[in-house]
Amino acid sequence: MTFSVKTSASTELIDITDQVQAELRDKGVQEGVCMVYVPHTTAAVTINEGADPSVQEDLLMVLNGMVPWKAPYKHAEGNSPAHVKTTLVGASELVGVEGGRLVLGTWQRIFFCEFDGPRTRKVHVRTLG
Ligand code: ZN
Repeated sequence: MTFSVKTSASTELIDITDQVQAELRDKGVQEGVCMVYVPHTTAAVTINEGADPSVQEDLLMVLNGMVPWKAPYKHAEGNSPAHVKTTLVGASELVGVEGGRLVLGTWQRIFFCEFDGPRTRKVHVRTLG
């Protein structure tokens, strides 16, 4: 199962928990493991706090600080910081499924991480029962 995410900024976190949960419901998956995979080289996926949006801003502030926009990068496309941030964050997450629900902590949400937007992106969801 695959769904699209339309991003609206160059760097942005988007909560996709509800879309992932909806895919499980549509497939009738009750027990197992859910893999969320982002098939891009300048976008990623992570799990972190969804209650306070300031956490997302802080994550982006630190990532943008760690990976400067201007540096002696060699990649001619000019988006090396986005590639580096993607590798730091990672392309996939695994979440347990119990009773048809993602097993997440109270404050945990799944975030699509855009690092070279705005674009229309894809997210793959696969389940192992
Ligand atoms: Zn590139």
